[in-house]
Amino acid sequence: MAEFIMESCGVNEKGDLTIAGVDTVALAKEYGTPLMVFDENKIRSVCRVYKKALEENFGEGSIPCFASKALSFKGIYRIIAEEGLGSDAVSAGEIYTAKAAGFDISKMVFHGNNKTDADIRYAMELGIGRFVVDGAEELEAVNAIAAELGIKQKIQLRITPGIDPHTHKAIVTGSVDSKFGNAIKTGQAEKITRLALAKENIELMGFHCHIGSQIFEIDPFVEAAEVMIAFIADIKNKTGFEAKELNLGGGFGVRYVKEHPSFDYAGAIATLAEKMKASAKRCGIVLPRIMLEPGRSLVADAGLTLYTVGSVKEIPDLKNYVSVDGGMADNPRYALYQSQYEIHVANKAGEKEDYVCSVAGRCCESGDLIAENIKICKPERGDILAVLVTGAYNYSMASNYNRLTRPPIVMIKDGKPYLAIKRETFEDLTRNEI
Ligand SMILES: *Cc1c(COP(=O)(O)O)cnc(C)c1O
Repeated sequence: MAEFIMESCGVNEKGDLTIAGVDTVALAKEYGTPLMVFDENKIRSVCRVYKKALEENFGEGSIPCFASKALSFKGIYRIIAEEGLGSDAVSAGEIYTAKAAGFDISKMVFHGNNKTDADIRYAMELGIGRFVVDGAEELEAVNAIAAELGIKQKIQLRITPGIDPHTHKAIVTGSVDSKFGNAIKTGQAEKITRLALAKENIELMGFHCHIGSQIFEIDPFVEAAEVMIAFIADIKNKTGFEAKELNLGGGFGVRYVKEHPSFDYAGAIATLAEKMKASAKRCGIVLPRIMLEPGRSLVADAGLTLYTVGSVKEIPDLKNYVSVDGGMADNPRYALYQSQYEIHVANKAGEKEDYVCSVAGRCCESGDLIAENIKICKPERGDILAVLVTGAYNYSMASNYNRLTRPPIVMIKDGKPYLAIKRETFEDLTRNEI
């Protein structure tokens, strides 16, 4: 009996891989490949874990906000809204998408280290909940545009706590030399706090930090939270300002392959709460409302990608390449971070997996790979390959490189598949071309 990294997966009597009880080979036949499939119930269940853990450990008003850069399309904002979560956005495009889905923009926080005046105005006119202000110029711009609109804009300030979370360097964001935020160590965090407090059209609600992504240990999160609490206390002593909110960002790790540890999200939140309460007591402050911004951990292991195998090329004594009808255009994560994946031949899911190969995409790039030196059962042209745990940072990072069309997304809710995003067409490719 095969064991899969995704809880939602299984094998049916035909020997086909299933997700949420639905045959993936049948889905590939009906919708074509490449195809992304999500178990909606799984996403909802993780939303509930986060929401409950935050409420129980930090009290009402402490909420998770989905980091929607992990997966942004109208349907996901509807699910997030129904589950009572907030959301974050990093661009006006994400805000637009959420708005188009009917998402309550006042439950959205707006990130980014370079928001343009147009972005700021757009978000403010739609009534964005919080700006997470990254620097002094943005602070000036937010204040000026809020003054023009005759409002007082709520913000959080992005602070760099100076923590090294031991993850891939491309996804570390909380170190002093980061392009994001304002470091405590250099005095810039205090400086921007004083600036914000002096602005007429800005209401400073509190602080934000995000130390990085795909982190499996709880210690760096605890460390960062303690640094932030000490900072809040220091600011209170110096200025009298008491932060009402502390947003600790995202970053909880996801198990992509069996070698990865599993991460207990509720347990981590309970540990954080315990340590933070003690820390707040020591520092003589009241623990503010806590926000978390899980991205990857809400959606990654609810999704998989199906491809059709086109060729199996064996280079004697060197390498075996299995080429599929997608690749870096729909999943650039291996090319970017050498991310690992668990892969199965969906129509031979119960069979022995002892064929060593690399899975290559169809782009004109040698670096267009999905995995190297993995073991699957030997495929042939026409077989369906399933790449598991592709729910985060796949569709949202997809491109039209080589003029490939983006795949559709099929969601499965209560055992029934429905189309959430259509496959792009050739007409879509040239839509804006004159
Ligand atoms: C990317 C990001 C997140 C989400 O990180 P995950 O590792 O996907 O949980 C949260 N907050 C901010 C500010 C981010 O940039």
